[in-house]
Amino acid sequence: MKVCSVRGNDFKLDGGAMFGHAPKPTWKKWIKPDKLNRISLASRSLYVKTLDYHIVCEAGIGNFLEDNLAKRYGADNSEHKLIENLKFIGIKEDDVDYVILSHLHFDHAGGLISKGTNPFELHFPNATYIVSKEQFERASNPHIRDRTSFIRGLTDSLEKSGRLTLVDKEKISQLDGVVSFYYSQGHTPGQLHSLFHGDKEKVFFAGDLAPGIDWLNLPITMGYDRQPETLVEEKKKIFYKAVQEKWLMFYTHDPFIAASRISADKNKYEAARMVSHLNNYSLD
Ligand SMILES: [Zn+2]
Repeated sequence: MKVCSVRGNDFKLDGGAMFGHAPKPTWKKWIKPDKLNRISLASRSLYVKTLDYHIVCEAGIGNFLEDNLAKRYGADNSEHKLIENLKFIGIKEDDVDYVILSHLHFDHAGGLISKGTNPFELHFPNATYIVSKEQFERASNPHIRDRTSFIRGLTDSLEKSGRLTLVDKEKISQLDGVVSFYYSQGHTPGQLHSLFHGDKEKVFFAGDLAPGIDWLNLPITMGYDRQPETLVEEKKKIFYKAVQEKWLMFYTHDPFIAASRISADKNKYEAARMVSHLNNYSLD
């Protein structure tokens, strides 16, 4: 099994919202804000090649946003960077067998949508879309507080595609031995984390549980998290296991770092052996 990090369209979000209750003098040392107080974020996908399948973890923000919203989020909307960058490593969107989505917020699932289509035409026309059942229910019926994070009409388009698989277990038979699923609740209900198993190594898709290395710091959460204390407990459990089993942690939003190991000093976790990209990295 081989993995690559593939960049999608970068964008920006308010630094204060991204770092929750951390004061600006602290977080601005980690990621420098622009004049509008926004920090640059990646939308980075994980491409996994197994003997049988091409798998893409996360669609990223894509280029579906209307111009005014793209401007607000500092998103470069000119082309669908994920699809272009997949082509660059020899993968056409038609080749992709599975797209696994950690959750359906617009900066993770927007890349499914073909720009300018309504009802939405979805990218990756031959792929099965894997979404957690609980997250799908939330996206179909969001809370007033997270409504603007979801894309109206996307759950209908996913259902109509006939290629949607909803999951609520650790495994699915089609990908048995390739990936096992973990679920978390603190950021959004039923966030789905994929753990890919090679013969020698495992890589974990952290999603918004730890969007970048700065969020490995246990108390650091986002203003967007629905239950920050739950999230901290979930981070503790997952990071503990990641250290024990030497997982490679994959970060979707970190502007600089694609993946790292985690080192632990009691309850303090830090990134170790960071890499800015993964290029055909073998897990076997
Ligand atoms: Zn996100």
